[in-house]
Amino acid sequence: MREGIHPDYYQATVTCNCGNTFVTGSTKPEIHVEVCSKCHSFYTGQQKTARADGRIDKFNKKYGVKAN
Ligand SMILES: [Zn+2]
Repeated sequence: MREGIHPDYYQATVTCNCGNTFVTGSTKPEIHVEVCSKCHSFYTGQQKTARADGRIDKFNKKYGVKAN
């Protein structure tokens, strides 16, 4: 990388509340996040959406959708 062109740019270590860490490019050397792709309910379908599972099942059955 050429020096002097970019502002401070790090391979930032991102630490998530779930304990997962990963590296990404950022202007900050360290980042703390509350959710990441490993634990976000959108990806896992197991955490915060667990309470809605019953409703989702009903919805899926009603419309004939198989859950995964
Ligand atoms: Zn996480």
